[in-house]
Amino acid sequence: MTFEELKALDHQYTMQTYGRFDVALDHGQGSTLYGLEGEEYIDFASGIGVASLGYGHPAWLEAVETQAHKLAHASNLFYTEPYARLAEKLCTRSGMAAAFFANGGGEANEGIIKLARKYSFDKYGKGRANIITLHNSFHGRTITTLQATGQDVFHNYFFPFTEGFRYAEANDLASVQAQAGEDTCAVFLELIQGEGGVLPLDKKFVQDLAAYCAENDYLLLVDEVQTGIGRTGSLFCFQQYGIQPDAVTFAKGIAGGLPMAGVLCNEKCRNVLGPGTHATTFGGNPIAAAAACAVLDTIDGDFLAAVNEKGEYLRSAITALDAPCVETVRGMGLMVGIVLKDGVDRSALVKQIYDSNVLVLTAGPKTIRLLPPLVITQAEMDRGLAVLKTVLCGA
Ligand SMILES: *Cc1c(COP(=O)(O)O)cnc(C)c1O
Repeated sequence: MTFEELKALDHQYTMQTYGRFDVALDHGQGSTLYGLEGEEYIDFASGIGVASLGYGHPAWLEAVETQAHKLAHASNLFYTEPYARLAEKLCTRSGMAAAFFANGGGEANEGIIKLARKYSFDKYGKGRANIITLHNSFHGRTITTLQATGQDVFHNYFFPFTEGFRYAEANDLASVQAQAGEDTCAVFLELIQGEGGVLPLDKKFVQDLAAYCAENDYLLLVDEVQTGIGRTGSLFCFQQYGIQPDAVTFAKGIAGGLPMAGVLCNEKCRNVLGPGTHATTFGGNPIAAAAACAVLDTIDGDFLAAVNEKGEYLRSAITALDAPCVETVRGMGLMVGIVLKDGVDRSALVKQIYDSNVLVLTAGPKTIRLLPPLVITQAEMDRGLAVLKTVLCGA
């Protein structure tokens, strides 16, 4: 099938929900992807932070193949080994007590919201169900997580949304306090606002907020759907902020390309979602869980140190370009935001980057976002950087 034939077929039979790039992908190896006619792309996007081990990683392939031969699906009516093993690995390495598995970030965030509301209901009764989120956040596309998202553009069309969310300014504890009260059960935030523009929160704000939440028994909930599972150079980003949330969600990179997500919570929340209160048919599927175990076994201390080095390398190389269109370069680990100056035509730059066979993402109004596979090699980074140099410095 040619690219034009594929595009025509897609347009004829699929809801045109996505503004796709003019690229079709067929297969990949390492952090390089290939189109239908063998065109080669350097991957600085990893399918929005999902392909953490790139493509064709031997440990991932082995885990998925083996589990596919044994048992693809069981449902949560039965015990399966990958589910329990994955939970053990995540809890041990995050300091959390218990896991629940889901299929995607939005669904995991629904779970953490239910956890917070029921924790509060069990302890304090009705009327304490409000959750504070931050302006410029992103928490998902379900009716509830759209409302949790602190950006007005997401609060359209789909009325009525779920009640019970209030928004505070990031890096402003007084703003959180102004929204909090007797009806508050939790504060929910991303430590680096990903879709919002790769904006890391201030460490002091986060630590003060954690103390404030603890004093008032508001659960501190962290959305690590994008920042989790090695992306920022630690297994979870909260580990670099020196806090321990009550619960955290993860998704994108956990299973290296298969749909998998979940919630981890601490001891005081572990029994909140008892039998009959929350469930999913697919969540924790054995193949996805086995893949996730392989991802976690690969992302060890040395691997995470390399993620930090690569992130530093990318950020300093882009900063050193001193490109006239770039305002600043920010992020942590392999979550990189290239913030453009006001008035720069981002879509023209992104198109040029794609035309030069490098896949990148955008975030917020003026950021080019890089989320390469965590296994990206020096050679692959340098090939992508050469294109960024030509495009950013030519602009
Ligand atoms: C991607 C993302 C989500 C939504 O995840 P889906 O898997 O698309 O439902 C939620 N929160 C954050 C921070 C994300 O980056």
